[in-house]
Amino acid sequence: MSNEKYEFFKVVQDHLTKAARLIDLDAPVELMLSQPKNEIIVHFPVRMDDGSVRLFKGYRIQHSNILGPFKGGIRYHEGVTLDDVKALAAMMTWKCALMRLPYGGAKGGIKFNPRNQSAGELQRITRRFTHALGSNIGPDYDIPAPDVGTTPQMMAWIMDMYMNTVGHVNKQASRGVVTGKPITSGGTLGREKATGQGVVHCITEWAREHRFNLEGSTYIVQGFGNVGSHASTLLARYGASLVAVGDHSGYLKSPEGFNPHKLSEWVRTHGSVAGYPSGQVITREEFFATRCDLFIPAALEGQIGVAEAKALECRVIAEGANGPTMPDGEKVLQERGITVIPDILANSGGVTVSYYEWVQNKRSESWDLEEVDARLETAMKRAYKEVSDFARSRDTDLRRAAYCVALERLQAAYRERDIFP
Ligand code: GLU
Repeated sequence: MSNEKYEFFKVVQDHLTKAARLIDLDAPVELMLSQPKNEIIVHFPVRMDDGSVRLFKGYRIQHSNILGPFKGGIRYHEGVTLDDVKALAAMMTWKCALMRLPYGGAKGGIKFNPRNQSAGELQRITRRFTHALGSNIGPDYDIPAPDVGTTPQMMAWIMDMYMNTVGHVNKQASRGVVTGKPITSGGTLGREKATGQGVVHCITEWAREHRFNLEGSTYIVQGFGNVGSHASTLLARYGASLVAVGDHSGYLKSPEGFNPHKLSEWVRTHGSVAGYPSGQVITREEFFATRCDLFIPAALEGQIGVAEAKALECRVIAEGANGPTMPDGEKVLQERGITVIPDILANSGGVTVSYYEWVQNKRSESWDLEEVDARLETAMKRAYKEVSDFARSRDTDLRRAAYCVALERLQAAYRERDIFP
């Protein structure tokens, strides 16, 4: 039930403008970052299982590569629009800059519902899209990854397709053309849970900072895909209890707490939370009004408007999704003293571990899980502290602070390099 009038790209541009004003960003830097560098739109045919041919529309928006190759996920969803992908691509630029990754920002997508397609059709759609993108992607140029509606299996198809177009000599060096791959195809341990893990690192840092005891606390989660399910299971380890949950199929509550492991298993086999044998069905309104300490939106953008912001009874929101809070909603949250740990910080664990995967591919290494986990923990804690310190010193909120930290880094690179010619 996202807001149809939500102009996602305009919202992200507005965040950019406000942060730019606060740090007096050089005008040309703001100008250059206000639009993506390349907008690629392709139409490609795919033969469906029933013999018919369908034409698909695919996007790859490359926002910036001033800090390194374009980087960002590919989304399969029936609601994908050019505006959304532009917004999401820009957010990848901020995210990578904030996390000090040697990457720029990009995002891609195909407008269709993957739930309605067979595995064979998904494979043909993915391979044909990769073919249509051609040399617009590459291990040192633009590196896709999973996002809403895409999986490690699909990344393996993209990799295989790409590898088969570059010739024998370059084949093995092309493994890093995508991240979020299955382990045996060159993926890394710890990537699958990385985004949820990063969300939880932000929550534990927030809790430490505010002397808040997570043991015995409560949380609610919207969206129980990769991010929502991993964040839930990891947070439960701190003694927090999941009291309400929901996804595209509906919402459930359980005052005594769900078992996130069992719920994740259910969603894996049934595709959604619908029909889960414990808890009671509630409405979306009831979900947002559930009293709790922490809220993790991990579904789509544009979910928290004025009504939801007024209804929420939590202390902190950790944005597992990209862009879940709408500007009007954010104003209400601020008035009500509810802290928002912003998307570009909270969900940046995914792309951070994507970077570790890419480095391992380049070096033909495979790191153990402890190493990946330890690096991610250090990176998330450092970023959280940097953002939190900035917010405190400049008396601003965490979102603007995160944008400012990212923009300062981008500005430094532009100042050093200047504009060609
Ligand atoms: N799609 C994820 C995001 O929004 C991960 C991107 C990546 O790993 O490149 O951050």
